[in-house]
Amino acid sequence: MKLLVYLLLFFLIILTILFLRQRKKRASYWNRTDLLTNLPNRRSLEQFIEARTTPLNLPIAVVVIDFDNFNWINEKYGYESGDSVLVEFSQRLAFSAPNHSLAARIEGNKFALAIPGTYSRKEIQMMLAEQFQSLQSPFYIFGAPVHLTFSAGVALAPEDGKSGHTLLLHAERALRHVKHHGKNNLLLYNTSFQRHDLERQLAMTFQSALQNGEFFLCYQPKLDVRSGTVDSVEALVRWNSPIHGSISPSLFVPIAEKNGFIFDLTRWILNEACRQMKQWSERDHSFQKVAVNISAPLFLSDRLPEMIRDILQEHQLEARFLELEITETAVMTDFQNACRIISLLKKEGITISLDDFGTGVSSLTYLKNLPIDTLKIDKSFINEIHTSFEDKALVEMIIQLANLFGLSVVAEGVEKQEQLNVLKKLGCDFIQGYLVSRPELPDVLEVYYKKQRFG
Ligand code: C2E
Ligand code: CA
Ligand code: CA
Repeated sequence: MKLLVYLLLFFLIILTILFLRQRKKRASYWNRTDLLTNLPNRRSLEQFIEARTTPLNLPIAVVVIDFDNFNWINEKYGYESGDSVLVEFSQRLAFSAPNHSLAARIEGNKFALAIPGTYSRKEIQMMLAEQFQSLQSPFYIFGAPVHLTFSAGVALAPEDGKSGHTLLLHAERALRHVKHHGKNNLLLYNTSFQRHDLERQLAMTFQSALQNGEFFLCYQPKLDVRSGTVDSVEALVRWNSPIHGSISPSLFVPIAEKNGFIFDLTRWILNEACRQMKQWSERDHSFQKVAVNISAPLFLSDRLPEMIRDILQEHQLEARFLELEITETAVMTDFQNACRIISLLKKEGITISLDDFGTGVSSLTYLKNLPIDTLKIDKSFINEIHTSFEDKALVEMIIQLANLFGLSVVAEGVEKQEQLNVLKKLGCDFIQGYLVSRPELPDVLEVYYKKQRFG
């Protein structure tokens, strides 16, 4: 009797273990499987990729496929029909997938394939183009054929990433690029997509960044070489984004130009620089002027003179306190128009300086006819001025030319005393660069200015 009870107990324990195991297995299956199509899900796909890439660094191609305009099916025929298309597509995908590869449904109407093996970019493109042909036959909804197209993005390991997560992310980036450029196509990941994505993200947040006060100005002094004192300052915009951290103006200014945001941004910069300059000008000893960089698209539009007039008036600031830095490119894009706008601004009393001089198509004739006040010699000519005979000769020529046309000269990006020594000998009027000061916040600059003036 006792033995029978023990046997029964033993049997019960075994049954419970088996039951629990089965439940765990089933739970793990559903954790890794998409309920609608029975294909592995995103998590399962990532594990499949990582089992090959992480320990062994084996090559693998990751393809993300997305229907174009799938919502149209749901809207026109209902969600049940949409689901049946997805189920049918999942079967076609799994059936046509190359040997040893894994087909998965990673979300909504997005599917993926992980294909182990070494493929050149061309090989994978040809192989997938062939496979996609077989996927493209019509789907039948209520007996009628419906043709659907889809877009795909591909990332290859190890060159495009090693973890399942990164590879899927990059394949999805390539897919997004296809979607923005006409759909119904296949593209391989390329690092420029990352930049493109960032550009789009930045462009979308400009306006709110301006409203949230994420932009601020730093000022970099220009030193009068003869007197050894600071003459004026250049305003340089900074963006402190809570999402991307500190972003360089070399990155976001061109994006702002492309997206038409440069108008609002420059209005804000001019406003802030003029407000600050007004405050400075009310003190006994102060900077002579503030220079603001003006992008080509804004400079060449007719909106600038009026914008400046309004801002100067608002801050009750005399025009002589404001300088504008424009580039050769802005001038050369439309020379006649540039001359007209410069003359207009100069009539108001604003001074104009030609930035990055020497990097564009510098032509003597245009320089002779351009009503500007100052030339800023680009940093690339200054870098080796103390060691390169050619660079020194070039800068000497530019300074002589400027003297001939009655223009003053600023040398940009001066970092070493040796560079300053050469520039002094050549008769350069002003220098700007880390040797004097980096761009700083107004209060830091004020301390520096006071120290310099009063020892
Ligand atoms: P830029 O107008 O030629 O400004 C000079 C750039 O060189 C600044 O970079 C400045 O910080 C940097 N710099 C100054 N001295 C030195 C030096 O001694 N060594 C080195 N290595 N660099 C030096 P930043 O502030 O990053 O600005 C880069 C560019 O972004 C500017 O070139 C200008 O084209 C644009 N930018 C900056 N602020 C504004 C703005 O308010 N409006 C517009 N439209 N463009 C701006
Ligand atoms: Ca500048
Ligand atoms: Ca410059």
